[in-house]
Amino acid sequence: MPTVQWFPGHMARSERLIKESLKRVDLVIEVLDARAPAASHNPLLRKLISSQSRLVVLNKNDLADPAATKLWLARFQENDHTLPTAVSATRAQGLDSIPRICDRMCQGARWRNRRAIRALIIGIPNVGKSTLINALSGVIRAKTGAAPGLTRDIRRIPITEYLEIFDSPGMLWHKFESTLTGLKLAALGAIKESIVPGEELAGEFLSYMARCYRALLMSRYDLDDVPQPPHELVEKVGRKRGCLLTGGKIDYTRTSQMVLKDLREGRFGQLSLEWPDGRGWRDEQE
Ligand code: GDP
Repeated sequence: MPTVQWFPGHMARSERLIKESLKRVDLVIEVLDARAPAASHNPLLRKLISSQSRLVVLNKNDLADPAATKLWLARFQENDHTLPTAVSATRAQGLDSIPRICDRMCQGARWRNRRAIRALIIGIPNVGKSTLINALSGVIRAKTGAAPGLTRDIRRIPITEYLEIFDSPGMLWHKFESTLTGLKLAALGAIKESIVPGEELAGEFLSYMARCYRALLMSRYDLDDVPQPPHELVEKVGRKRGCLLTGGKIDYTRTSQMVLKDLREGRFGQLSLEWPDGRGWRDEQE
């Protein structure tokens, strides 16, 4: 298993920008990927916003396992400074909860009758911040796309007459806390795939599916059995899908790309990569 590390220079700049913006806002809206809320949380933020009110938005809820999301919402609710909600920015589901919860979090504040609530939206690249801002404001403002790190400058976006959002750049930590976190983020497309060899990543993901979502895996690729070793799983899927090289050997690269694309586009059905009780995509070597 490779060690996943990434030190892009613009992350330091993002951290500085976020520190500056935090002084100007009343609360933080942290957007997480509902399929991996722990992996998509930036541990650096713990230090930066330790005492600031935080609204946790579990986005891409349309792709996540509802049972896992329910447990995550309960887990976040236990934290004093945090209120959670689950939404789908692309399907515009649950979005009303965001201004409503922001309002609740700021009730009783001295300035509340004088000005709008100011919220800073943060989250690692590709969790859907731009899509969420567009859906909330009803206008195409933020550029969206699958390339990590697209959002750049901090802007102020009016959402309702009592809420304005400050948009911040995508930010990842300087060093992943574990290889497993890097793998999950790579699988979801939040970090550049080339960081981890695609075939290994697809194999690990398929093994996870075999353990936790066997029926979804078998039905997606019409499998009659599920071999254990990750390499054999990729091979089986590749053969089923006709991803072959001339001579009949499996095209591992193409098979892996297909598997990861299926995950990112939600083609397996709703699934989550982790649960608050520790279930999920484990790595025996860690
Ligand atoms: P950002 O880097 O955090 O600003 O992320 P983007 O807004 O650019 O979104 C990254 C990708 O995720 C895009 O392809 C979006 O269409 C997709 N996306 C965003 N929100 C959702 C959602 O709620 N559900 C699904 N299925 N896809 C989403």
